[in-house]
Amino acid sequence: MADGAAAAGCVYLVGAGPGDPGLLTVRGLELLQRADLILYDQLIPTRILDLARPEAERICVRDLPGQHPDKYPHIHATLIKAAQAGKVVVRLKGGDPLIFGRGGEEAAALRSANVPYEIVPGVTAALAAAAYLDIPLTHRHYSSAVALITGHELPNKPGHRLDWEALARFPGTLAIYMGIARLPILIAELLKHGKDPQTPSAIVERASTGAMRSVFAPLVELESARRQAGLEAPGLILIGTVVAHRPEHSWFERLPLFGQRILVTRPRPQAEPMLRQLESLGAVPYLLPTLEIRELSDFTAVDQAIDELESGRWNWLVWTSANGVHSLIGRILARGKDLRILGGVRIAAVGPKTAAAVQSYHLKPDLVPQQAIAEGLLQELMPLVTGQRVLLARGNRGRDLLPTRLSAIAEVAQVICYEQADAIDGNSPAIVALRRGEIGFVTLSSSNTARAFLALFDDVLRGRVERGEIELVAISPETARVIQDLGYPVTAVAEPYTTEGMIQSIIRRVRARQGGAWPRSQVPAGVEPEIQNDQAGEQAE
Ligand code: SAH
Repeated sequence: MADGAAAAGCVYLVGAGPGDPGLLTVRGLELLQRADLILYDQLIPTRILDLARPEAERICVRDLPGQHPDKYPHIHATLIKAAQAGKVVVRLKGGDPLIFGRGGEEAAALRSANVPYEIVPGVTAALAAAAYLDIPLTHRHYSSAVALITGHELPNKPGHRLDWEALARFPGTLAIYMGIARLPILIAELLKHGKDPQTPSAIVERASTGAMRSVFAPLVELESARRQAGLEAPGLILIGTVVAHRPEHSWFERLPLFGQRILVTRPRPQAEPMLRQLESLGAVPYLLPTLEIRELSDFTAVDQAIDELESGRWNWLVWTSANGVHSLIGRILARGKDLRILGGVRIAAVGPKTAAAVQSYHLKPDLVPQQAIAEGLLQELMPLVTGQRVLLARGNRGRDLLPTRLSAIAEVAQVICYEQADAIDGNSPAIVALRRGEIGFVTLSSSNTARAFLALFDDVLRGRVERGEIELVAISPETARVIQDLGYPVTAVAEPYTTEGMIQSIIRRVRARQGGAWPRSQVPAGVEPEIQNDQAGEQAE
């Protein structure tokens, strides 16, 4: 869907939305996928940067010279220079670029430099907060208007002071951005000008993410409620009768994984669908790719296997991973051959993901076992291959079960089509969260990943897993066995043995823990590493 055009030398002011990557617009995604340079605000949802091309240059405005607000000349100069050099430039801002985002000033700077630009709106925080808390911002009976207000009005701004008297009389809902640090003053202004102290009010932080937290109180008690709940900036304040017209728990807070912090350990390209699925169930996913897939440096063995497949030497070709499928077929095509060389061979795929990879090349596997693990494959393959010649296409860290067992009854060879290597990035926010004890579940999606991960983080994990603070979730009984052999308990094993199965097993664990009650967020206060500096959060960048 995302294949619209982007012009070289143009700057795109793009709203990244409030947090949930699903709220990025289609136009925003198109442009991100075409950007050469992305200049982003510190507070944008970080997951959104993963949607850009890996080769795109990413610069955070934090790293430009100057302190807010002196950064602006540098931001403008960076945009203009990159556009004049012929780049596709995306200026990415949280929420909407024109709501307390200085998008207007940036557009003006681009106009005076004769740089073409486009503005792509985004879902602003007030709309997201209302939607994810189930609060109707307007209501036929209670609110005919909405005011978007800054709580950070510069005191010395000539002629532009907010008229608190008018705001106190405003016949609708007040949504105050950047107001947490000055909340007592704002409330005092409203009460002084006659606003009903009992007006239903709310504060929400990290709206639209699984880490969303909120408090509700009459206006006059809002600050003490905030302090009690430990909510800090950045956050949004909603004031108005409509705030009372919400269910006790919003649709979002009732999602089965709301507030659960879950670590995903698979390689980045394969992780994206799982991360999205977790987000859409209300979780806060963290990505810590443990192993990465690398292309081989030497293709001699693969090329020999390809020649043998072409000459009809093998009766069966067995794939035990989607990576194996893509790497072998990629090499066949790279050598100028096509899939007709597989015409005479029967194909087995260990599970649905591997089968889907096979089918993506318009090949139909002859065998996909009921149980998506080596044992299941053996059980169904053994009766079919007695006396035959079987080629296993796999990675360098696979198990030995298949070749060992098959070689008792068939002629078996293995060809390594790709390599797995350790890929831990020591600066990852996921590691910070893990060390701070904020992760509730760790998903381990293969035996190799489990081995590598547990070896790397033994010091952090051991005590926490034993005390039940972190639960380990295995994709299959085989992975569970590897984990248990290393001395760790496993609390959930996927059924079926897929990513979806892992997610379902986490849902069951969460339900069991909660005894069926709907929880408030499980997330401790103010723990998100990117927004530790809460004063920074109070200001639009
Ligand atoms: N352009 C942004 C606003 C930038 S000002 C937009 O349209 O949303 C930054 C302020 O926005 C924060 O101090 C906070 O008040 C609010 N905000 C942004 N994202 C938020 C979120 N996910 N939850 C709650 N408040 C948020």
